[in-house]
Amino acid sequence: MTEQTGQGPEPAHERASATQIGARGPEGLPDEVGADPGQAERAAAGAGRTEAGVAVLPAFDEHHAPEQELIDDCVHCGFCLPTCPTYVLWGEEMDSPRGRIYLMEIGRQGEAMNDEMVRHFDQCLGCMACVTACPSGVQYGKLIEATRQQVERRYPRPRRDRAFRALIFRLFPYPARLRLLRGPLRLYQRSRLGVLARRAGLLDRLPGRLAAMERLLPELGRPEPVPEVTPAAGARRRRVGMLTGCVQRVFFPEVNTATARVLAADGCEVVAPATQGCCGALSLHAGREAEAQAFARAAIGTFESAGVDQVVVNAAGCGSAMKEYGHLLRDDPAFAERAEAFSAKVRDLSELLVELGPVAPRHPLPLRVAWHDACHLSHAQGIRAQPRAALKAIPGLEVREIAEAEICCGSAGIYNLVEPEPAAELGDRKAANVLATGADLLVTANPGCLMQLRDALERRGRRLAMAHVAEVLDAAVRGAQPASLLDR
Ligand code: SF4
Ligand code: SF4
Repeated sequence: MTEQTGQGPEPAHERASATQIGARGPEGLPDEVGADPGQAERAAAGAGRTEAGVAVLPAFDEHHAPEQELIDDCVHCGFCLPTCPTYVLWGEEMDSPRGRIYLMEIGRQGEAMNDEMVRHFDQCLGCMACVTACPSGVQYGKLIEATRQQVERRYPRPRRDRAFRALIFRLFPYPARLRLLRGPLRLYQRSRLGVLARRAGLLDRLPGRLAAMERLLPELGRPEPVPEVTPAAGARRRRVGMLTGCVQRVFFPEVNTATARVLAADGCEVVAPATQGCCGALSLHAGREAEAQAFARAAIGTFESAGVDQVVVNAAGCGSAMKEYGHLLRDDPAFAERAEAFSAKVRDLSELLVELGPVAPRHPLPLRVAWHDACHLSHAQGIRAQPRAALKAIPGLEVREIAEAEICCGSAGIYNLVEPEPAAELGDRKAANVLATGADLLVTANPGCLMQLRDALERRGRRLAMAHVAEVLDAAVRGAQPASLLDR
């Protein structure tokens, strides 16, 4: 049973500070973070946010607490630290993977879940760069997923925070609701009201999270529905289901139509069931377990009925969540096996195209392309070679690498909405590295990254053409001019 202590601000001595906790942490951690004033300042990163002022005892209940065996895999070596975006920003142990694992450990030992502990968990982007870097194979993804579920179930977020999160989760996973907003938003963009409001400084007066929402909105074009069935060009090699996504379907419909055309050109019959809903990725990554499970069950049913060999995904976050359905539904006797079988069929677009091998000739596209690894593609799914290989197969196209490729751009699902300040810092850092490549076009495989990087570049007063990898492959297959990608 959850016990909440100290309604309202707790006495200082009772508030187990995460930085103090760190002083008793694993060997090699600083004795007292507050000893160095610079470090103390960095340790306060994010401390200005609204906090609940309560401590939940014990931190974790019995339902899927972060597992002790997984925690014990961490040998505190610190190899993950330089790739952790929050550690890179603030140099604070408790905002590193090692520090967060330590907080999970003391949570298991009976320490209260308090505002500071939740802050350090919330500030994690869930980017999984630490998983790539870790030589001990620590499954940080499972640990943070379990922790977030505990936080969402047990920690009473402040009212404003709850309301904002409720808005996000009542809106984004529902394409029909997003579609209702599309018209008014397009009108707002076309009327240039936003530009004028920005010039007049009105948007600066919005609370940070609402301002981030406004800034991140992509330029909306015409809706482009994907046919329910796109026949294979030539002999059929596979029958594949296609996830059309929520944000992707409504805000980037051209990415879905390009995806279907490329797959069809390479011999796939593409089925995009009109009844499909959200895959549950946003909910899963935010710790909303029951909601994510409900979306997962529905998606499994939809694609099972479609009778497909594979399920193709063109959004990195969605693909990584769908590959985890087996774990998400492990306690459900009616779905556990079906979920495992389903996850085994899921492929990222570039993963499937490379697995199949190209059939349609690629026409030349003389372009210098900066490839941005979306974290949920490279770190969570381990897919790095395939998109590069698919792009390099286009004659005349040069792929340029971005420095610090392993560090997140700050998008990270809903992170750039709920933690806009660190997200913007990471976006700025990534934008500088992207510009340094001197590329003509930035290409990635995740709608969130596209929105985040466009915003970051605009903040620097720069514009750079951007495309999803599906659009570049589609242009090469159709023999389109490079200008079709650059002049948009
Ligand atoms: S998931 Fe990313 S932000 Fe979170 S601890 Fe790992 S590297 Fe750091
Ligand atoms: S690299 Fe792995 S084992 Fe080393 S501190 Fe990070 S999570 Fe722990």
